[in-house]
Amino acid sequence: MGKTIGVLALQGDFIEHEAMLQQVGANTKQIRLPADLEGLDGLIIPGGESTTIGKIATEYGLIEPLREFAATKPTWGTCAGMIFLAKELGQHAQPILGLMDIRVNRNAFGRQIDSFETDLSVRGFEETPYHAVFIRAPLVEQVLSDDVAILAQLDDGRIVAAQQDHLLATAFHPELTDDLRLHRYFYDMVSAHSNQEKNDEQG
Ligand code: GLN
Repeated sequence: MGKTIGVLALQGDFIEHEAMLQQVGANTKQIRLPADLEGLDGLIIPGGESTTIGKIATEYGLIEPLREFAATKPTWGTCAGMIFLAKELGQHAQPILGLMDIRVNRNAFGRQIDSFETDLSVRGFEETPYHAVFIRAPLVEQVLSDDVAILAQLDDGRIVAAQQDHLLATAFHPELTDDLRLHRYFYDMVSAHSNQEKNDEQG
């Protein structure tokens, strides 16, 4: 049976993520309120503006429910969503979930090249470069534990995609291309996790 993946729909490009998820076979659901998280197998936190997403999430009482969900269920943050997942930010405080052992630097590329596209080699998909769209993107400045696997780096070594168990983070926007590989990868993570949970229950 298809798994259901929620997309946090407070602000940003959640529609594009939904369309990609449906193409890889997922049922999708837009998440705006704590009750919407019920029954989800996984969650995407999209790009947008992390301070705005954090502010609305706080107003809607979503911070703690999201933190609880993402503490155990597959969750993927893209761009602003990656900022939202991070344990530490280089800058001043803003509401974040603080779950993934990465230190993230917002708007890390400065003004001149704050948006650009480049071909990346992504771990697991090395056979064809991954065309990545960066929009006022953050960077993973530092990995804070050995549990974090680096999935992609720019030519100069700066980290732009990482995974820690059930948590996935990309600084770029896979939902703005027609390359389905990362959405398929996340869907596989969600399926494996949900099947594992069922096995554990049947124990
Ligand atoms: N610059 C945004 C932030 O700091 C992220 C940009 C994006 O998600 N495309 O939240």
